[in-house]
Amino acid sequence: MKAITLLLLFLSISLTCLAQAPEETEDWSRQPEVVTPGVNNSAPSDALVLWGKKGDLKNWNGEKKEPANWVEDDCLTVNPSKGGIYSKEVFGDVQMHIEWRSPAKVEGKGQGRGNSGIYFMGLYEVQILDSYENETYYNGQAASIYKQHIPLVNASRPPGEWQEYDIIFKAPIFKEDGSLDTPACLTVIHNGVLVQNNVELLGPTEYIGKPKYKSHAPELPLFLQEHGSPVSYRNIWIRKI
Ligand code: MG
Repeated sequence: MKAITLLLLFLSISLTCLAQAPEETEDWSRQPEVVTPGVNNSAPSDALVLWGKKGDLKNWNGEKKEPANWVEDDCLTVNPSKGGIYSKEVFGDVQMHIEWRSPAKVEGKGQGRGNSGIYFMGLYEVQILDSYENETYYNGQAASIYKQHIPLVNASRPPGEWQEYDIIFKAPIFKEDGSLDTPACLTVIHNGVLVQNNVELLGPTEYIGKPKYKSHAPELPLFLQEHGSPVSYRNIWIRKI
């Protein structure tokens, strides 16, 4: 009796499979937009170029309320002691490409050497630091999520060489009462090497003490940090996702 039941079940499943057409699992609900990809890390056609050439500093505001005053040439360089810069455009979830270079002349050590940073929404920092044979606390080295996540490996190039980050940032989501619904997440690829794999953030970056989420707007400016070191940038582009 049991064998007959099993046989009937097998036949019924086989018949169901035969009755299905391959078209039933085809999805035509959304045609992906056509994007022309860049060449050698240049911006894809749908990206916003935040800094690609001299003059693009117009896309930024200075941290200290005055116009952005970093040094523009064939790259964009931090003006030590003049503050960081905020993008004029606001962003939530993004894909970002950025190239950076710590000074060839090595000065200082630990956090004092080639320090800058990318703050998504002006709050969540992916650290930029000369971490080539330069030890510091591991959740503060290059490609760390500052004071929250140690990078999986140290993929740093020597000082004076261009390095690149490709980053996917997912903004946190807050409930109507202001409490946290979904934390922010970051994926970071450093010089082609995965170093942060969709890690959850504990809250905004804090230098001292534990991070804690506080409700904020769904889109906010991107911030590049000035930390006393003339770190250079080029080829900065971003896509809203
Ligand atoms: Mg920093």
